[in-house]
Amino acid sequence: MFDSLQDRLQSAFKNLRGKGRLSEADIDATAREIRLALLDADVAVPVVRAFTARVKERALGVEVSKALNPAQQVVKIVNEELVTILGGETRRVRFAKNPPTVIMLAGLQGAGKTTLAGKLGRWLKEQGNSPMLVACDLQRPNAVNQLQVVGQQAGVTVFAPEAGNTGGGDGGAEGTRSVGDPVQVARDAIAEARRTLHDVVVVDTAGRLGIDADLMQQARDIRDAVNPDEVLFVIDAMIGQDAVQTAEAFAEGVDFTGVVLTKLDGDARGGAALSVREITGRPIMFASTGEKLTDFDVFHPDRMAGRILD
Ligand code: GDP
Repeated sequence: MFDSLQDRLQSAFKNLRGKGRLSEADIDATAREIRLALLDADVAVPVVRAFTARVKERALGVEVSKALNPAQQVVKIVNEELVTILGGETRRVRFAKNPPTVIMLAGLQGAGKTTLAGKLGRWLKEQGNSPMLVACDLQRPNAVNQLQVVGQQAGVTVFAPEAGNTGGGDGGAEGTRSVGDPVQVARDAIAEARRTLHDVVVVDTAGRLGIDADLMQQARDIRDAVNPDEVLFVIDAMIGQDAVQTAEAFAEGVDFTGVVLTKLDGDARGGAALSVREITGRPIMFASTGEKLTDFDVFHPDRMAGRILD
């Protein structure tokens, strides 16, 4: 995903190699190249500006060191600043003192929420938990079925409204299909998890192609009904400059507690991955790197920075 950014940063550093001491002009030129490299990678403009300013300020202040030459010092600074914009420390899931822990997923349609529910289920099970996945995406045809399939693959229980009885709601008039009430499904699922001793509940919610007031309200209603311990905003790392607007809308709409980056295996420019933490102030907690249930891990800012600078 970061191939081009990687190359561009390497070439920015190359110009510093062999220099005994860095002049202000050297640092300016390098900062400019870094800035362009980040902009080309689709990193959000305010993030690029802040990042470059910090690198420049620190590079100007570096002491002459015996251990590292100037070029190495700049690489070290860029690495540290990348770790910072990616969130610094790894942020772990906050489990509830009184189970079940409730993890709600929110994001645009196609971001990878349903797939993620399966991945999280598998991961939680591996950690020794007894998770339950809940199908509250009653908008997208087939979403309930898709969750059942990934649940089965992961060997995890799925709570879903029965076909033809999608959790109550306003169905009923003859000939109209019940649209169901995802809020009620979520509530019922928590009660069921308590009864059946599932200690983590992962709630999949509906997404739309664009930001949509009804979608946001529905997500908020589910959130308010189940009082989640974590609300995870799922974002496709390939969405480019739209990342800022989407992330801000979900931060405002559902006040998420953490971010999951998906499709990091893609070959797009990946600026969303580098922007979302800084834009929203919320930590990136997990990363998805493919369609298989195993293509998933806890997000480590230092490893990601290392990959970009590798
Ligand atoms: P939802 O609408 O948010 O529930 O999204 P889905 O879970 O249905 O995912 C949309 C598409 O993206 C599906 O075809 C998934 O297989 C695919 N997908 C999900 N996560 C990843 C990922 O990390 N990498 C890749 N390459 N594809 C993914």
